[in-house]
Amino acid sequence: MDAEIKVLPLLHMASGDILSLQQYRFVGTHPGKVVYLQANLHGAEIAGNSVIHQLLTYFKTLDAAALQGEIRLVPACNPIGVNTRAHNFASGRFNPYDGRDWNRIFWDWEQEHRGARTFAAQHLESDRVTIQQTYREFIRQHFAAELAALADPAGVPVHQRYRTRLQEQALDADILIDLHSSSNQGMVYTYYFRDRAMSVPYFDLDFAILLDRFDGNAFDEAFINPWLELEKAFADLGRSLRFGIEAWTLELGTGMKNDAPAIKRGVSGILNYLRQQQVLLDGVGVLQQSVPLTRASQLQKYYATAGGFVQQRVAIGTWVQRGDVLYELLCLNKTGQYPQVITVQAQQPGLVYDLSISEGVSEGEYVLAVMVPDASG
Ligand SMILES: [Zn+2]
Repeated sequence: MDAEIKVLPLLHMASGDILSLQQYRFVGTHPGKVVYLQANLHGAEIAGNSVIHQLLTYFKTLDAAALQGEIRLVPACNPIGVNTRAHNFASGRFNPYDGRDWNRIFWDWEQEHRGARTFAAQHLESDRVTIQQTYREFIRQHFAAELAALADPAGVPVHQRYRTRLQEQALDADILIDLHSSSNQGMVYTYYFRDRAMSVPYFDLDFAILLDRFDGNAFDEAFINPWLELEKAFADLGRSLRFGIEAWTLELGTGMKNDAPAIKRGVSGILNYLRQQQVLLDGVGVLQQSVPLTRASQLQKYYATAGGFVQQRVAIGTWVQRGDVLYELLCLNKTGQYPQVITVQAQQPGLVYDLSISEGVSEGEYVLAVMVPDASG
């Protein structure tokens, strides 16, 4: 099966060049779910591009009958972020025009219109499939105003033009997978949403983080929030409904690296999940692997309590107990004293899952992160 390849112009630059997105689309013989995957929304987080390449290579060998639904893949989905550098470092996490995080800018229908409750009340007696179709159409109609704004003679800022072009690719998807990595040194994990934990064991992960608090218009969040709010609105009216809408942000290892083991696990986990979702019908058996679960509110980040140089830091992937030494900080001074070494201990037990790239830190700079697993996970 060959991909349909679409080039989507994104921004016309001062130099006359045009930044574009390129979407690869595989359509199966049988209708089914629409799956959207993108990579490299944050400039340093490059591993997902290789995941997409390997998925492309695999899907090309498949017969269209082995695909139920369609898959859209967009590598290098943020050309400005991907190409941003400071010295040799990829620093494209923030939009240089306005300082905003590239992954906190997206359009969320429910946040803009607060319409889920009214919609649920009006469709209380409808069947699930009708509700899903009608609600999706409703969101699409409102998004048309976002698209129309791009043609406004007064223009729109870069972040708005970018987010609209990108979200347009995924708006009618059932499943969204956004491929990131740490911008530092990280493990392999996913963020997930309420009532979607049952799908976590199909990815190949070290652990998973429930987004139990609003992070602020991330791509996955803006996509799924209207659906989560609709489910909640129905629940408040006494009707339990789950829509077949899922969103995942996979974190694949270390920033600025094509982290081979993380890429391999990304590919195998995504294929396995697509089999479980009945999108991929290639006859390969589905595997399950339960992993520790945690939530965003239980992540503990450690910031330098003084300026200095990090030494003797624990290795990534270490489970620590309260009181274990996490790292030492070699602190210089300008007060006529000898240098001092400060020891920093774990405040809670958990898994050290992320380490700063830089081991030279000023007071308040990020050093490492520990995830505390759920009691039941
Ligand atoms: Zn990221």
